[in-house]
Amino acid sequence: MASHIVGYPRMGPKRELKFALESFWDKKSSAEDLQKVASDLRASIWKQMVDAGIKYIPCNTFSYYDQMLDATAMLGAVPPRYGWNGGEIGFDTYFSMARGNASLPAMEMTKWFDTNYHFIVPELGPDVNFTYASHKAVDEYKEAKALGVDTVPVLIGPVSYLLLSKHANGVDKSISLLSLLPKVIAVYKEVVADLKAAGASWIQFDEPTLVTDLDSHQLKAFTATYSELASTLSGLNVLVETYFADIPTEAFKTLTALDGVTAFGFDFVRGTKTLNLIKGGFPSGKYLFAGVVDGRNIWANDLSASLNTLNALEGIVGKGIVKHAFHDENYLVEIRCFRYSHLIYFSKLYVDKLVVSTSCSLLHTAVDLVNETKLDNEIKSWLAFAAQKIVEVNALAKAMSGQKDEAFFSSNASALASRKSSPRVTNEGVQKAAAALKGSDHRRATNVSARLDAQQKKLNLPILPTTTIGSFPQTVELRRVRREYKANKISEEEYVKSITEEIRKVVVLQEELDIDVLVHGEPERNDMVEYFGEQLSGFAFTVNGWVQSYGSRCVKPPIIYGDVSRPKPMTVFWSSTAQGMTKRPMKGMLTGPVTILNWSFVRNDQPRSETCYQIALSIKDEVEDLEKAGITVIQIDEAALREGLPLRKSEQAHYLDWAVHSFRITNVGVHDSTQIHTHMCYSNFNDIIHSIIDMDADVITIENSRSDEKLLSVFREGVKYGAGIGPGVYDIHSPRIPSSEEMAERINKMLAVLETNILWVNPDCGLKTRKYTEVKPALENMIAATKVIRNQL
Ligand code: GLN
Ligand code: ZN
Repeated sequence: MASHIVGYPRMGPKRELKFALESFWDKKSSAEDLQKVASDLRASIWKQMVDAGIKYIPCNTFSYYDQMLDATAMLGAVPPRYGWNGGEIGFDTYFSMARGNASLPAMEMTKWFDTNYHFIVPELGPDVNFTYASHKAVDEYKEAKALGVDTVPVLIGPVSYLLLSKHANGVDKSISLLSLLPKVIAVYKEVVADLKAAGASWIQFDEPTLVTDLDSHQLKAFTATYSELASTLSGLNVLVETYFADIPTEAFKTLTALDGVTAFGFDFVRGTKTLNLIKGGFPSGKYLFAGVVDGRNIWANDLSASLNTLNALEGIVGKGIVKHAFHDENYLVEIRCFRYSHLIYFSKLYVDKLVVSTSCSLLHTAVDLVNETKLDNEIKSWLAFAAQKIVEVNALAKAMSGQKDEAFFSSNASALASRKSSPRVTNEGVQKAAAALKGSDHRRATNVSARLDAQQKKLNLPILPTTTIGSFPQTVELRRVRREYKANKISEEEYVKSITEEIRKVVVLQEELDIDVLVHGEPERNDMVEYFGEQLSGFAFTVNGWVQSYGSRCVKPPIIYGDVSRPKPMTVFWSSTAQGMTKRPMKGMLTGPVTILNWSFVRNDQPRSETCYQIALSIKDEVEDLEKAGITVIQIDEAALREGLPLRKSEQAHYLDWAVHSFRITNVGVHDSTQIHTHMCYSNFNDIIHSIIDMDADVITIENSRSDEKLLSVFREGVKYGAGIGPGVYDIHSPRIPSSEEMAERINKMLAVLETNILWVNPDCGLKTRKYTEVKPALENMIAATKVIRNQL
């Protein structure tokens, strides 16, 4: 049985590509330097896969920025404002689209399905003149071939490309972008012909949109596209790859009936129903690429469970008859002999149609466990990053061909057993407490309007109260203090002194600005999830476990490996220190359970909801300790609540249910007069507004400044919102300092749809990434705007 990898991380084991890109962008190195780093990375990845024994090795999964942007370049679909004049697209045009340039903003970026990877959204319309403008796919194919590796070129499928695109500015939204298919297909034909001419025998089209909710018009586009491509594709083996979820039955039927397609890839990790679907019928003679090794996580595969899946599949997919076996070296030929009487007959030649694969591209996991110098060996034995996952894939393939590496399998089994039984994983008290939560509801006893009254008595806030989201600018000096404390270079005393001074500065500034509800500025935190993870039990941290988020940006998610508990208070010292510096209310500042969950690598041995409930209990303890310490306003950030939303509508209600429940658990125990805030980093929640209301926070602050209209339309449509709400009045993602008139106009717009007594005034997110020279005048203008409007009310 053969093995296949859907795609591989590009950044390199130590983020080599990141540093090469950034140095090129800063003009500290040349294009050739960057290309050299990139080609070395590609070569080492291909070699790694060859050494591991992978048969179907991908190419064109490398990218200088993003694979969707690569497809845009391939199709020559450069928005006219970037001034591209034809010819092969070079770094200038490519990086202008990705990052903007001195005079132009970048193209829009959005999340790749439900991952934390962001892609550059194509901007299309009938005027786009599609031409074959980047030969990257064929160049990479040839590059690998020159190194002696015959690879499978990977392209974003044409239908998914269009389904993930948006209408360019000014294009009539009623035009379906799928109507551009004929023009797009024409370019794909040229690319395929080019790849064929270069010697490719396989080609992979990623069509992940097939796992989303598609209508029949969209599904028909797949049928039409692949039959249009069929003649060009003939002579090639064509794999259409899906990932990230179960494929719906209708999409499965469409997919498996596509013209000219010989192989289908499925995610068997997230797609728990796909096996049954295939049991219901799989076209004979076609290949099935079974994604059994998880590309979205860092856990070692349960190899024996995967073998069970593969065995079940083998019974269905079986082995197909090869007509021209000896003419095609790409077939894995097996000669079956059987005895008949005393004669031996050769039966027909068979080929393995089942291929072991990863559930999706390994882009979404960390790169190589080898570089983890700080993890202990026990935890390390439970993990597999991309480099280890390709070895797992091949071990499974070999085992299925009767060459099981017993030592590898038994060490895997014992690692799994040790994980199961480790006292570091299980904390019975926590398990029981979390189990007791399920099925019951948790809500504060009093309704929000009564609570707001009780809070107002205590807080005595003016109308349109002002606040900020939590963090203040993190200076170089501040980062140095944290770093040196971590490295034991400065004493705890010195550290506490420096952080206290920083808090004092922030408190004084806010009082001078005349802000109503203060924050301490979060100087002790490097990251809103890591800070809590480091203090909770059940979390581990990597040194190089980076995952690409967008472009050269990577994140290093904590690993939740065990039951979560809170050994001691986490923020009470800093919050009460800060409260001690002012008479104004000081917000306690916590990260909520859903956000901690969604920004971590989560254990796969229990439902995510259970882990979330455990985190919720720890945060609940913290909330109650803050209240005891005299903190009367507590913000529980749920910046990433929306990110965990399942791709398919049918699964969203269940997620929202336990996610919102987890949030409510954190603050059911507080008095009416304690004000609970939450904050969210997006405003596209028109579809989940009822869940947001159901969180039952007293005040919500939300990002808004880039999309006023969208947010306000929810309220215009008559959704009743009785809690406090602070839609951000300015964009903290930009260095621009908005005038007080501009902010006043925004506030007035909001007042047109929201009751005066529930509106708060605040920026749209934390100020951590800004400079004081930007923050000070911006907040000054924000307060001035608020005062002008207060006087008019
Ligand atoms: N309290 C956090 C901060 O201000 C919130 C960050 C976020 O929403 N991403 O930095
Ligand atoms: Zn935010």
